[in-house]
Amino acid sequence: MKTPVKAVGLLSGGLDSTIAAAMLMRQGIEIQGLTFYTGFCVVEHNRRTKTRKRKKPVHNEALQAGAMLNVPIEMVDISGPDYLKVLTDPKYGYGSAVNPCIDCRIFMFIRAKEYMKEIGAQFIFTGEVLGQRPMSQRKQPMDIIERDADMEGLLLRPLSAKLLPPTVAEQKGWVDRAQLEDISGRSRQAQMRLANEYGIEDYPSPAGGCCFLTDKNFGRRILDFFEYRGKENLTMDDVMLLKMGRHFRLTPDVKVVIGREEGENKFMERYTSGRWKLETCDVTGPTTLVEGDPTEENLRLVAGMTARYAGVTDFSSARSTCWYNGEERVLETTPVDDAMLEAWRI
Ligand code: SF4
Repeated sequence: MKTPVKAVGLLSGGLDSTIAAAMLMRQGIEIQGLTFYTGFCVVEHNRRTKTRKRKKPVHNEALQAGAMLNVPIEMVDISGPDYLKVLTDPKYGYGSAVNPCIDCRIFMFIRAKEYMKEIGAQFIFTGEVLGQRPMSQRKQPMDIIERDADMEGLLLRPLSAKLLPPTVAEQKGWVDRAQLEDISGRSRQAQMRLANEYGIEDYPSPAGGCCFLTDKNFGRRILDFFEYRGKENLTMDDVMLLKMGRHFRLTPDVKVVIGREEGENKFMERYTSGRWKLETCDVTGPTTLVEGDPTEENLRLVAGMTARYAGVTDFSSARSTCWYNGEERVLETTPVDDAMLEAWRI
């Protein structure tokens, strides 16, 4: 019996990569799914930290797509110092926020190629669509990504294949190019038709942002860190905290993070080492962390910010407990008003 040709598919769980896998499976290709955890995935972050009541539980979308297609999925954690260098020093710069998409894709494809060799697969495919994303899915950046990741000819994009040069998989006849697609641009109509054809029903909304790095609010927090702490000092612990809560800069030396909901408050407890922690005394409220070197006056303001987010409406007084390095004390203050909060918000 002929050994089936095997391909590694970068599956995000989104509609495009799910269709790409289904197209190749119909051609008899054996698929091994691969998904990367960068530390900046919105869904995965929410799954791990949030406790807000939801209509539906949050699942990992790649695993869900794998289960639907009956395809195994390898999850690889690439978060860490090497990936952070992609963020702090991207060779090809950022997109509209702090998204280093070209460098990020190169980083991922280098690892995907290693994995392809490790499992004895013959090529790699993605659900990328020519012209769908401004930074990484135009022809020129696609060529740069393939070249820098040393992927030339090995990377098949079934949804746009007929608009791109034939890859090794097509040249060797493993995949019939005639059965691939020529989709380009941001319209989703062709994908909807294909989803119907392949019986793909449950897929995440394409409008939902999937990566913190494309979020402009998150981008402001990262750039604030670069400016006041230095990009060379960024760690995954910092990233974790940057993804949580409301962020305010009081002075060049003092930054405040205030939890937005119970799950975040609990998660922030892990990051109290070397930081001040505040909570309101008399009412339930958020967990607040202070980074840097706050003065007594700064701490009083932070206690007022914490009271404000605890919903304290009595502007005459509010009490917050403050902890630092095992020491505990109570601060009397008044809740700060919204105009002050907005002036400090990052
Ligand atoms: S959006 Fe850009 S930076 Fe984020 S994971 Fe995708 S390619 Fe990487």
